[in-house]
Amino acid sequence: CGIVAVTGYKKALPLLINGLEKLEYRGYDSAGIAIINSETKNVSCNKAEGKLKNLKNNLKNIEIPGTVGIGHTRWATHGKPEVKNAHPHIDSSGEVAVVQNGIIENYQELKIKLQKEGIVFNSDTDTEVIPHLIQKELLALRQLKLESNGSTLLVALRNVISDLEGSYALAVLWSGAPEALVVARKQAPLIIGLGEGEFICASDTPAIADFTKIILPLEDEEIALLTPLGIEIYDSNNERQYRNPISLQTAD
Ligand code: GLU
Repeated sequence: CGIVAVTGYKKALPLLINGLEKLEYRGYDSAGIAIINSETKNVSCNKAEGKLKNLKNNLKNIEIPGTVGIGHTRWATHGKPEVKNAHPHIDSSGEVAVVQNGIIENYQELKIKLQKEGIVFNSDTDTEVIPHLIQKELLALRQLKLESNGSTLLVALRNVISDLEGSYALAVLWSGAPEALVVARKQAPLIIGLGEGEFICASDTPAIADFTKIILPLEDEEIALLTPLGIEIYDSNNERQYRNPISLQTAD
């Protein structure tokens, strides 16, 4: 239902909560965040059923250091509104976190295949296939013994989305590339806001309006890698795309 994602130099947690508050008007049944913890280098995740205030309550006395994070407010399509079904969804190693809007129509067959390979699922959502599939791709890429960075995650997600049917806006983080955020969209909105040395992505403009008035619209079926240093956008044919930022007022 609502996505917010950030990478930059400011603390991610308040930015994510602020963005999720701005998406509150859409209504939802659970909310959650995941941040690359800059101290532990692991993914720290927190989710709660019900309104955003429940998530805020959970996080009241918790400090999560880190500048890269994703957040979500969920409007359940597959799986009851329960904490286990709230986003972000994490792969079995705890390294990859994903938030998604939309519906993965072929998730059942993908899930059965993964279960046959021994992957244990923690939720009833269509979304959870995505972090497991990304981890599988990352393992395959690791065999090539290339240096792992944000581009590795981009390649992994690109391979995964070629197997997905349905509609989605996605934001993904991976502890193996702690500065990177990878996002993708197909028949669901996602926009990228440009700050100074930072990016904020969201499924809807109110979530980024406080943060910046300069945006890069992501076209349908594009995928993007964002780090504090810059952005790379690719279309579905893997062609690099270049475009000028526009102001939010023009976009409206
Ligand atoms: N299909 C996903 C789910 O049920 C995402 C729903 C949404 O857009 O919030 O968890």
